[in-house]
Amino acid sequence: MYRVLEVNITTSTLKLVRQDFSGPFCSISFSGAMLTPELFELLPDYKTLSAYYLCNPRLHYPANFTCSNKGVGSMNQDDFNHNNCGGSFNITVPIGYAPEEEGLNVTNLESVLKKGFEVKLNIDERPCRECKSTGGICSYDVATPVCCKRNSSSELECIPMIPSGSIIANDPSPLQDFCVAIGDLKNGVFVNGKFCKDPKQAKAEDFFFQGLNKAGNTTNRVKSNVTTVNVDQIPGLNTLGISLVRIDYAPYGQNPPHTHPRATEILVLVEGTLYVGFVSSNQDNNRLFAKVLNPGDVFVFPIGMIHFQVNIGKTPAVAFAGLNSQNAGVITIADTVFGSTPPINPDILAQAFQLDVNVVKDLEAKFKN
Ligand code: MN
Repeated sequence: MYRVLEVNITTSTLKLVRQDFSGPFCSISFSGAMLTPELFELLPDYKTLSAYYLCNPRLHYPANFTCSNKGVGSMNQDDFNHNNCGGSFNITVPIGYAPEEEGLNVTNLESVLKKGFEVKLNIDERPCRECKSTGGICSYDVATPVCCKRNSSSELECIPMIPSGSIIANDPSPLQDFCVAIGDLKNGVFVNGKFCKDPKQAKAEDFFFQGLNKAGNTTNRVKSNVTTVNVDQIPGLNTLGISLVRIDYAPYGQNPPHTHPRATEILVLVEGTLYVGFVSSNQDNNRLFAKVLNPGDVFVFPIGMIHFQVNIGKTPAVAFAGLNSQNAGVITIADTVFGSTPPINPDILAQAFQLDVNVVKDLEAKFKN
């Protein structure tokens, strides 16, 4: 266990000393009490040394010491052969400390160890900022990051910032005001999918799109049409993690089962009547979540879930949907599975879908690009 000697909130550093280092060197616990390295980073003013003990007493060791219960030991110097010692543990000392060449000056080492060492707390910045903004102090309870505040009766209360077992989720945040996408920079590398225009050259048009009042053409096999407004239509959407679609459905048309690999979708029905749904993953036993929507109704399709919408009315339907990606991507299940180039071997799909191989061949012909 460690005792905290000093706390510096501005630099997030702590001065720590091992509790057993307050007594004589030979009475300390000869074991490494490791601090979680992901949470505590040793400041560069300090270094770690290895102390070996239960060494062969007939040999000579540099910086040697003798403890009645741990036999002969040695404070490690570089290239020291420790094969003749029974155990070791680490100590943290100031960078300037060098064990004596011959016999270890134990009294000096004890006073060095008692002064402790400094570590930087690697508290995840966002929860810590939130903690500070509510008047708290970020700290640790053993290895759990906690936010400590005075309660109404002015006692210090510490609550975990990330309760164990929970998951942190967040939207991506851009590193600048905007990053308007430009076409191709010859032989360049992709940055987040697209290059950024010089911000000084950005103009209102980069953030603008026209025409979502117009219905898409629904004369096709599934009698629906999706008009996308993503980073390809609005270059200013680059890095912003959001996009939009308009979906038109002829009577009894459908937006067939598909999934967006990079986005959750939130859909609002403006006109008509839709039957919509998504199916959860295998882990959740492939449950269908479905609903009939009327104008003004909203439905959410979580990221990655296979979902669909069907116009169950006699009139055209119109919906708009937001997606939390500049480029959500679409995988239409039937087109992807039966319309790949080159086609997947029909025997494979026949077994996978438990279909007659001729049915698969027929499907592959229909979905052929
Ligand atoms: Mn969708």
